[in-house]
Amino acid sequence: MPDAAGCWGPEPGADAAVKAAWEALATVMDPEIPVLSVVELGIVRSVARDASGRLAVTVTPTYSGCPATGVIVLEVETALARAGLDARVSVVIAPPWTTDWISDSGRAKLAGVGIVPPPKSGKRALTAPDEAVACPLCGSADTMQISRFGSTACKALHRCNACLEPFDVFKCH
Ligand SMILES: [Zn+2]
Repeated sequence: MPDAAGCWGPEPGADAAVKAAWEALATVMDPEIPVLSVVELGIVRSVARDASGRLAVTVTPTYSGCPATGVIVLEVETALARAGLDARVSVVIAPPWTTDWISDSGRAKLAGVGIVPPPKSGKRALTAPDEAVACPLCGSADTMQISRFGSTACKALHRCNACLEPFDVFKCH
């Protein structure tokens, strides 16, 4: 979970390489939502040292079948290597990622590009089938889901009946 300030990052007292790894990870944009780094999206779970002292980075995809997972792992590995860090990247799917893990800065950026920022409590995103989703552009609650699949498989496409604008909503997994 993000810390009290709504951010992800190194634990207090983390060594220089761990801090450098977090900095490198903050430059990796999520392929699904290119305005958010993988850190802001909350899919970087931890950066630690394994038993042999090597950096170990764990990543949790937004849902276990997310087709972007392979791309994300590759980009994370590339960013760490470019920073001169020798790290092992592994994917963990439990506990599952929830929208609560999106950092506060990530939420602000999502709202800025018209993607509905999920509520911060509970594991549900705004996409339960019968749940009204407010339009991120005009705020109208008169919206409908057009497609279960939005610009990527991890988002659903909705449309506002007031301003007629389509918008993406995170799916709940
Ligand atoms: Zn609207």
